[in-house]
Amino acid sequence: MSYLASHNRYDTMTYNRSGRSGLKLPAISLGLWHNFGGIDSVEKGREMVRRAFDLGITHFDLANNYGPPPGSAELSFGSILKADFEAYRDELIISTKAGYGMWEGPYGDFGSKKYLVSSLDQSLKRMGLDYVDIFYHHRPDPNTPLEETMAALDLIVRQGKALYVGLSNYKPEQTREASRILKQLGTPCLIHQPSYSMINRHVEDGLLDVLDEEGIGSIVFSPLAKGMLSDRYLNGIAPDSRAAGPSVFLRPEEITDELIVKLRKLNEMAAGRGQKLSQMALAWVLRGGRVTSALIGASKVSQIEDAVQALAVAHFTDEELTLIDQILQ
Ligand code: NDP
Repeated sequence: MSYLASHNRYDTMTYNRSGRSGLKLPAISLGLWHNFGGIDSVEKGREMVRRAFDLGITHFDLANNYGPPPGSAELSFGSILKADFEAYRDELIISTKAGYGMWEGPYGDFGSKKYLVSSLDQSLKRMGLDYVDIFYHHRPDPNTPLEETMAALDLIVRQGKALYVGLSNYKPEQTREASRILKQLGTPCLIHQPSYSMINRHVEDGLLDVLDEEGIGSIVFSPLAKGMLSDRYLNGIAPDSRAAGPSVFLRPEEITDELIVKLRKLNEMAAGRGQKLSQMALAWVLRGGRVTSALIGASKVSQIEDAVQALAVAHFTDEELTLIDQILQ
């Protein structure tokens, strides 16, 4: 059946400006690394993208290698766009990335101009798009001069294949230097995509400061710590959870008894706030307004609904913040 987006879709979502740019992103964005690959049901993915858009989630995050197999998430997303979203392209912010191994030989990995330009051409074909809104360098390349990688991002924007560029997994000083080069080229860095959650706070050691100084936005991936900050693991590993499945991104060994004790305490605290643990975890990364968007994954529609509802209880008292720190010490 053809899809007509909800007319209420912009009523409740918060949109935050990305750094000192003109672009606003939804406080919650949806990433398609898991559950949208060739091994997954396209129909289920389609339902999730539709529901997300109906709830005001305008931003969908991909990468060349998302799947499995690599490339298949872009193919699935392309088929969803074609079936349901042709009329809504101007309401969508679609990102993709290159930086990890994608094809054989010396040109299918890391950060050369050859790799980035070819990879984006392939991504556009898979998604059936003329341009993406944001193109990222997915990780720093220790062997390619930063000038070449940044020049490739600038070229891609000048070619009209991306509107904005971003960096992912760059350390604070690498980010500062990349930002300097991009500004000189006339294509300022829109956004940085680091990991961040209650149990992974590395961005607080300098990266967020660099982003503030440089006027770069932030979209934080795995704000639920790959699903650990949810009710999935309160009583061990739920059979349909990510840790129980084939994902290399969350292995059962990570769900330790010690972690479960902490998760239960956090869950109790969230209940006291009238929230689920996953909702408290999302509100937490967005606290204080330093993060532009929390980039979640989802394996079912109800998880997207949960995430959007997290914004209803966004405030934390100082006592609550201290208690979270104590629980996770
Ligand atoms: P999250 O930390 O949000 O984990 C998402 C997982 O948590 C879901 O797939 C689901 O797993 C579980 N979950 C979500 N909502 C709920 C809920 N309400 N209740 C219970 N469980 C819930 O993020 P991801 O690790 O999935 O990463 C999100 C996105 O970030 C990726 O899709 C990708 O776009 C991006 N990313 C970028 C990286 C980079 O290097 N730039 C690296 C990694 C991710 P389940 O139900 O299966 O247990």
